[in-house]
Amino acid sequence: MASEAGDADTAIPQRLEELEERISAACAGSGRGRQEVDLLLATKTVPAERIRVALAAGYTLIGENRVQEVVSKADALADIPHQSHFIGHLQRNKINQVLPLVDVVQSIDRLDLAVAVSKRLDRDLDVLIQVNTSGEESKFGVDPLDAIGLAEQVDSLENLRVAGFMTIGLFSTDEVPVRRCYERLRVLRDEVVSSSVPDAQILSMGMSGDLEWAISEGATMIRVGSAVFGSRPTSDAYYWPGSAPG
Ligand SMILES: *Cc1c(COP(=O)(O)O)cnc(C)c1O
Repeated sequence: MASEAGDADTAIPQRLEELEERISAACAGSGRGRQEVDLLLATKTVPAERIRVALAAGYTLIGENRVQEVVSKADALADIPHQSHFIGHLQRNKINQVLPLVDVVQSIDRLDLAVAVSKRLDRDLDVLIQVNTSGEESKFGVDPLDAIGLAEQVDSLENLRVAGFMTIGLFSTDEVPVRRCYERLRVLRDEVVSSSVPDAQILSMGMSGDLEWAISEGATMIRVGSAVFGSRPTSDAYYWPGSAPG
C-alpha cells in the first residue's frame, strides 16, 4: 500500500503536469492564451498536507465546499500563500465562521444570503453569482432568468463586489448539453458586464471531466479536484445534497 506522503510527493505533481497539458491544449484549440484561465483546486476531502503539495507546485487558488473543512484546514495552510474560495452551498448560520477565512464566495445564489453576508462584513469581499444552468432540481444556484437581477442587487450591497458568475454544469459525457450550460453562463455574464456590472468578468465553470468544453465556452476559471488529487472517498451527494449518490 502506497503511503499518503509518497502519493502526495509524486502523484500530485505528475497529475498537475498532465492537467497543465490539457488546459494548454484546450486554450490553444480555442485561440485563447493559457493565462486567460485560472486553475482553482477543488480540495473537498483532501487533507491539508496534500493541498500543500499542490500549492508548492505554484498554484494559488483553492476552493472548499463545506465550512467545516475550511475551518479545520485553515491553520495548516496559513503559512503558505494562497487565495481561499468558498464553492459550496452556504448556510446563513455558518457565515460568521467562514467569512474571516475566505477571499471569495462563489456560491451566492439568493438575495437573503447576500444581505446576511454583507451585514457581517467589515471589509470588501468579491463574490460570484452561482447560476443553475442545468435546470436540475439537485443543483443549487439561481434560475438563469433571475441571475441578472440578482447580480445587480448583490453588487449594490455594501462591501460586496460581484466579480462574475459560477455554475456547476450538467453531469454528462454528452458535449452538446454540457456546453449549452456554459454558453448560457457566458451570455449572462456578457449581458451584465455590458449593461450594469462591468467588473463581473469571471466565468467559473468546468471541472475534471469537462474542462475542455468550459474553456472553449470562455471559462476564466476552472475548478478541478479529482484530476489532481485522485478520486474522492466520500460521495459527492454529501456535498451536493439531492444529487445522486455514487
Ligand atoms: C468537487 C467540485 C469541483 C471539482 O470536481 P472534480 O470533478 O473533482 O474536478 C468543482 N466545483 C465544485 C463546486 C465542486 O464541489
